[in-house]
Amino acid sequence: MAGETINIRNISVKCGHCNEYQTLSTFSRREDWNVYTYECENGVCDPNVTRTLVEVPRDLDSFARRDPGWRGGGKHGAEGDGTVEE
Ligand SMILES: [Zn+2]
Repeated sequence: MAGETINIRNISVKCGHCNEYQTLSTFSRREDWNVYTYECENGVCDPNVTRTLVEVPRDLDSFARRDPGWRGGGKHGAEGDGTVEE
């Protein structure tokens, strides 16, 4: 396997609307992708409008691999369950 990996902790996601950094809220998987959802938590933006989805190929995702038990947020209630199926 090549040495290149992606750690989403090295990526900052900034909102183009409020110009603030968005917070990682949930994690899920879609086929061969790990999907990280970022939201504004400053009360300025409606997360339903400004939510950002960052998709990382599972093969390259060093963050999820390092923290296999991490299932993401839950901070936002029902949506945060971050169900991971294998
Ligand atoms: Zn925003």
